[in-house]
Amino acid sequence: MKEMNGIKIRKELLDEYQEIIQKGNLSIKLAIIQIIENEACNLYIRNKEKYAAQVGIKTEVTLLEKDTKEIEVIELIEKLNQDPTVTGILLQSPVPEHIDFQKCTEKIAIEKDVDGLTKENLFSIRNHQEKILPCTVAGILKLLEYYQIPIEGKNVAIIGRSNLVGRPLEDALINRNATVFLCHSKTKNLKEITKISDIVISAAGVPNLITKDMVKKDFIGIDVGMNLVEGKLVGDFAKDIEEKASYLTPVPGGVGPMTVAMVIHNLIELKNGMK
Ligand code: NAP
Repeated sequence: MKEMNGIKIRKELLDEYQEIIQKGNLSIKLAIIQIIENEACNLYIRNKEKYAAQVGIKTEVTLLEKDTKEIEVIELIEKLNQDPTVTGILLQSPVPEHIDFQKCTEKIAIEKDVDGLTKENLFSIRNHQEKILPCTVAGILKLLEYYQIPIEGKNVAIIGRSNLVGRPLEDALINRNATVFLCHSKTKNLKEITKISDIVISAAGVPNLITKDMVKKDFIGIDVGMNLVEGKLVGDFAKDIEEKASYLTPVPGGVGPMTVAMVIHNLIELKNGMK
């Protein structure tokens, strides 16, 4: 089994991005809006700040009160849309229940949609006219490309149908000529589907969801899940699944680092588009 090393690829990509930024003398700023403060959100944001700083990108985090009204979030987004020094805007999820994440995200100008989660961006993937891919989707594609794993003609099972991962990933893989099975919590025959899949990508957030008996020999496994179990970060794949994999992403150290790298990638894309 070959481990797909997201940390190593992130380092290589960041070196490449730093050079692009320096050579092009690009002035890039990422604006992050945070409403919920918890350990996970703080960590995601700290990571983005850290790697952005590493390549010479500024980050500006606005921490809003938990009881901030939806209209105030929208007003802030509109202000950032107008700010010529801001390259990309990111609304950190989750947000409090009284705030509609998708409605607020929709207000982000497409040319600043670093997460690729506006309807226009999501629809562009479905329309075979990809603009900015959601960072996790872009990260998974980069991993496959890095390890020269072909997508065309492959059976791919995706577990999870969120707008953040599963749905746009389905579209992006279909664009690359894969046959995709998009599974979710109501899928009745998950094992039958994963068993015939060359590539299994799990983004359910359920530890031990995918077990050794559910996959075929030499399958390629991409574990997007991030679950805290007894203080330890684990994915959705059971540990012994590695016996049957040809390639596998570790958790941590697989998809997570790629997602962060793709934030930087998308910011450069946006900057170039804005020139
Ligand atoms: P989400 O919005 O909660 O979606 C989870 C999806 O998994 C839903 O479609 C759900 O089905 C499905 N699901 C849940 N239990 C299932 C089961 N037992 N069998 C089959 N499908 C099941 O989550 P998300 O935001 O997409 O994130 C998913 C996971 O990926 C989380 O662990 C998250 O932390 C992780 N994540 C990691 C990264 C990274 O960079 N590594 C990035 C994003 C997310 P229904 O639609 O039927 O409810």
